[in-house]
Amino acid sequence: MLYQRSSQLFAEAEKVIPGGVNSPVRAFRAVGGTPIFVKSAKGAYLYDEDGNRLIDYINSWGPMILGHAYEPVVQAVIEKAKLGTSFGMPTALETEIAALAVKMVPNIDKIRFVNSGTEACMSAIRLARGFTKKDKIVKFAGCYHGHSDSFLIQAGSGAITFGSPNSPGVTAGTAKDTLLAKYNDLENVKALIEANKGEIAAIIVEPVAGNMGCIPPQKGFLEGLRSLCTENGILLIFDEVMTGFRLAAGGVQELVQVNADIVCFGKVIGGGLPVGAFAAREEIMNYLAPLGPVYQAGTLSGNPLAMAAGLAMLQALDQDRSIFTRLAEKTAYLAAGIARVLEANQVTFTINTIGSMISVHFDAEPVVDFQTAAKGDNETFKKFFHGLLQEGIYIAPSAYETWFITDALTYEDLDFTIEAIDRVSKTF
Ligand SMILES: *Cc1c(COP(=O)(O)O)cnc(C)c1O
Repeated sequence: MLYQRSSQLFAEAEKVIPGGVNSPVRAFRAVGGTPIFVKSAKGAYLYDEDGNRLIDYINSWGPMILGHAYEPVVQAVIEKAKLGTSFGMPTALETEIAALAVKMVPNIDKIRFVNSGTEACMSAIRLARGFTKKDKIVKFAGCYHGHSDSFLIQAGSGAITFGSPNSPGVTAGTAKDTLLAKYNDLENVKALIEANKGEIAAIIVEPVAGNMGCIPPQKGFLEGLRSLCTENGILLIFDEVMTGFRLAAGGVQELVQVNADIVCFGKVIGGGLPVGAFAAREEIMNYLAPLGPVYQAGTLSGNPLAMAAGLAMLQALDQDRSIFTRLAEKTAYLAAGIARVLEANQVTFTINTIGSMISVHFDAEPVVDFQTAAKGDNETFKKFFHGLLQEGIYIAPSAYETWFITDALTYEDLDFTIEAIDRVSKTF
């Protein structure tokens, strides 16, 4: 396949947009080459500016769980657009989607809509800090909670260290309030709590990690976090921006039967439009302005087009819960097929899956946290990525990303993908 026009468009973009992209991971820096420019998408397929058709395993990094240009979502947006695209005033639609989200997700009474997952997580920790009157938060190495200052903190050397910023522009003052823990390691969290007694407002976690590949929580990890939080007056925040409305209608809270105090959403909840949200029980949510002292606002929050897309998406998922089983079956089929051909070609690998999330790591050791995820062979991944691109298959241009299975993928698409991986892995 040729990607000439994409290359030209990228060169033009680089002149006026930093790195040619509006979000860094799109730029192919980790794999080399130039990004693909999309013209349109439908169902499981992307159509690029060179006229290639690609099977899409990114799906806008998660939102398009029912496939691209899903008809009810498209129709809802078109109809709403004709009635005005933004008012900055309340609409009935906001209550409708809020009520449906509260019905679908366990353990929440109220929800507030924002414009991105970043905003949702940023607002959730402000709310947690206001509610508990404490400053520090615990986050896990390798978990991503958007690009707000408090979360751009890298692993220190020891287990109990203050985070150091991993982006210039994040002040040392902000970084000192973010404590860094190891995913799937309760002892590590216990030690952090001991060392910072009475100072921690919240522990924020991706209850299934999806930003260092896909890493499910080990047995007892989330349950243990719940107990530690309850015992120590700490709020437990589940960042379900990726997993919410994806791994189950009620997200990971429903899947593992562990209750969080605050839950963050994004991606699927917006049906492909810019939406985030955070939710909690009434006592906590009433701490937000205008009822309470914690300020949070947004000119375009609850935007009618975004709410219409989100509502159509949630309604589809609410009405047909078999979607989640169907997705998990497709993922399992794909994982088994990939394992079969990689083994046959003597490639060292680990595959992690849960529900409609899957990641392929080129290392034999189980991938359970950031350290083990980072051990994967990046040179093999680059060949894998570009090989698949030549076969017309688009996976994320980074070894640390999860692939997302959509309902639009057929078993023929999955078989084609497995056969392509067989061909590509012969060239390693
Ligand atoms: C994508 C993601 C975010 C950030 O959401 P944006 O909409 O990109 O700001 C936060 N948390 C998790 C777990 C995510 O996957």
